[in-house]
Amino acid sequence: MKSLKIKKITIKDSKLRNLRKGLRQVIDLAVHDKHVYYTQLEKLYNEKWDKRGKLTPSQLKRIRELSRLKNKLHDDLRKSMCFCAFACCLSEAYSEVTDIDMVWIPWYQGWYCVPCFEEYFKDMTIDDYIHELNYYDEDIGPPSRYVREQAAKYRHSFLKKPEPREYRPTIDNFKPWLKKPWLKKIIKE
Ligand SMILES: [Zn+2]
Repeated sequence: MKSLKIKKITIKDSKLRNLRKGLRQVIDLAVHDKHVYYTQLEKLYNEKWDKRGKLTPSQLKRIRELSRLKNKLHDDLRKSMCFCAFACCLSEAYSEVTDIDMVWIPWYQGWYCVPCFEEYFKDMTIDDYIHELNYYDEDIGPPSRYVREQAAKYRHSFLKKPEPREYRPTIDNFKPWLKKPWLKKIIKE
């Protein structure tokens, strides 16, 4: 999913909801099976390692590849709309297969259940997001290139507009005025 807009997938019909839950279960089981398969292969290589005390470069490459595939499998499932991507999920949808509706949140590139969306993300603004990115960005000072790029990319993705900033004049705002002869005169007096 690449959309830069929030997408809410709502199904009202109970039969269709059950069907969707069934499909999520099938995907979850298929991923689980694949994970078991990779783990068994890994075990075989590890047994070889124990027996011979070493592995050939190609076997080492394969074992690293298996670990990468397992991680990818896990990440892909977490990013899919089978589960809510938020670890502190308000429903059961983070850890269990449910029939709950999901919402695509572009700036997090993930699917989140409706209760999590309503509670945490619906009222988020671009300013909240930039603040969050800066929090994880160790640089203190002006936003890094990454933060600026992310902000530019998702600027129009948020439903809520940021609060207008309080106007705080700086000396620069008055510089043109300070050149005015009548003001110079007043200051001198
Ligand atoms: Zn959730």
